[in-house]
Order: sequence, then structure tokens, then C-alpha cells
Amino acid sequence: PRIGDLIRAGERSFSFEFFPPKDEAGEVQLWQAISEFEPYRPTFVSVTYGAGGSTRETTVRVTGRIATETSLTPLGHLTCVGHTREELEGILDAYAEAGVHNVLALRGDPAEGPRAEWAPTEGGLNYAQELVEMASARHEFSVGVAAFPEGHPSAESLDHDADVLVAKARAGAEFAVTQMFFRASDYFALVERVRARGVDIAILPGIMPILNLNAIRRQGELIGTEVPAEIIDRISAHEGDPVAVRAEGIKIAVELCDELLAGGAPGLHFYTLNRSKATREIFAALNMSV
Ligand code: FAD
Repeated sequence: PRIGDLIRAGERSFSFEFFPPKDEAGEVQLWQAISEFEPYRPTFVSVTYGAGGSTRETTVRVTGRIATETSLTPLGHLTCVGHTREELEGILDAYAEAGVHNVLALRGDPAEGPRAEWAPTEGGLNYAQELVEMASARHEFSVGVAAFPEGHPSAESLDHDADVLVAKARAGAEFAVTQMFFRASDYFALVERVRARGVDIAILPGIMPILNLNAIRRQGELIGTEVPAEIIDRISAHEGDPVAVRAEGIKIAVELCDELLAGGAPGLHFYTLNRSKATREIFAALNMSV
């Protein structure tokens, strides 16, 4: 099924994100997580695409197996970095042949990170918007895009950032998934900016539970997500007790999910890091267990 159609049908969407495994042990861990998530009957599951095409084969293979060997609907990510137009068309064709009908169209980042100066590949695409146009025109993919509650780290303003998301929606994107964030108000403000521009694209909030403060801080700095002082205080209060840190991190995520759903978010998208435990605990606390 096309994810755009599933979301338009109006049921609350929830979804799980994975990354392509790097070795045999990672492969085993991923498939274990997938099998643990399958009974939850998520709206879709997504698989990321490695910088510069490094995971091209793995991402297409894993999403293809999800499409043919499980009851789940896969969303394959694709980035412009390091690819010519022809290569991108080839990867889209490979997705379609593998039975994958949903693509998350992204620009990707320079090797030095999201704040580094962006230079398009010769013969390639400059912005995610162009990949949205390419993917929507080919094989009738349902196309999703990235959104940034705190603004993309190199966006000149929150208003320009919203203009970019609106342009991606007008180019054919049917849904958006956000970067991780910790303040529901940032998410609702993004939704407001987009609605004020007359665009009703579904924006799915991306949730990453804090299981380890230093890891999430490093990740947050890289992608431009601020970990608010109040959250740092709540986690730091349990310093030296990893079990309590993890429990507090899950609690914070549950509070965020509750606030988002109560405020009208169309669903929840979980960054799972290929493990199901934390997300299943959040589901249990939200009374969404199977
Ligand atoms: P774009 O929408 O092209 O925006 C990139 C920058 O250009 C922004 O600063 C934007 O404001 C600016 N911009 C866009 N259009 C214009 C314009 N017309 N004029 C001027 N400026 C413009 N990365 C991976 O490598 N693999 C993944 O699988 C992956 N999955 C992701 C999933 C999600 C849900 C999210 C939120 C991010 C993901 N990323 C992934 C990271 C993503 O590639 C980076 O955040 C990247 O820096 C921006 O990608 P984008 O698709 O938003 O780019």
C-alpha cells in the first residue's frame, strides 16, 4: 500500500525506523526487532539510506525482504548525496522491482555533517524537492520528506525552513517525518507555520527516547536538536544509575507522545536503532501494546 493513502484514510499512524545492518550480527539484531514489531501492525516501517550510497544494496535488499516476507509496509529512504540523476532513477527502479512503493526523499548531508557547505554531485540533484519530483513521477511512489521542528541546522530562519517543507509538499510529498525533538511546542509551531501557508501535509513527529544522556547530546548537536535544560536535569538526577536513567528517558518520551497525540498529531514515528525494547515500553505506557 501507499503510505499517503493509509494516512489519508485517517487512522492514527505509527511507525518504526531502522538502519541497514553493517554485518551478520547486525542483520540478526535487525530481523529480531522487525519480528518483535510485526504484531503491532504499524502503518509502516522505514529503513535509512547511508551517506553517499554506501548502503544502496543493503537498504534496497532489506526493504524488499520486508515487502515480500513480512506483513509490514516498508518505506525506503533515498538521498541525493553522491548520485547522478541516472543513478537515482536506477535506485528508484530497484525499489519498485523489490516491491517497495514508498520512498522518503532526502537531500542527505556532506561527509562533514549537516552544517557543512553543501555541493551537489555533478549531474545530480541539489535539493530534496527535486528528488520528490523525480520519485513522484516514477512508478507512482508515495513520497515522504524530512521536516525539522527546530529548523534544519543550516536553514536561514524557521520561516524559510517552513517554506522548504511547503515546497516539498507542493512538489508531491504526501507526508513528512520530523527530526527528533523534545518540546511538543516546537512540533506544534512547525505544524502551524505549514498550515498558515495553506498546506495540510501530514507531519509525523519523530521520537527518540533518551537511554543515555551523552549519546543523545552528541547526536543532538550533530543534527541541530537541543536537549532542553529541564530534560538534562531530570536525567542527570539519576547519574550513575543507568537503569534509572533509562526509566526516566522512557518516561520523558511517554510524556512527549501523550502531549503530541492529545494536541492532534496524526501519529508517532519511532527511531528504534534496530532494537524494540524501549519502543515497546513506551507503547505499554501509552496503552498501545498488543
Ligand atoms: P532539503 O529539503 O533539500 O533541505 C536541505 C537544506 O537546504 C535546508 O537547510 C533547506 O532549508 C535548504 N533548502 C532546501 N530547498 C531550498 C531552496 N529551494 N532554496 C534554498 N535553500 C533550500 N540522512 C541520510 O543520509 N540518510 C537517511 O536515511 C536519512 N533519513 C532521515 C530521516 C528523517 C525523518 C530526517 C528528519 C532526516 C534524515 N536524514 C537522513 C538527514 C537529512 O538527509 C539531513 O537532515 C539533510 O541535511 C537535509 O535533508 P532534507 O531532505 O531535509 O534536504
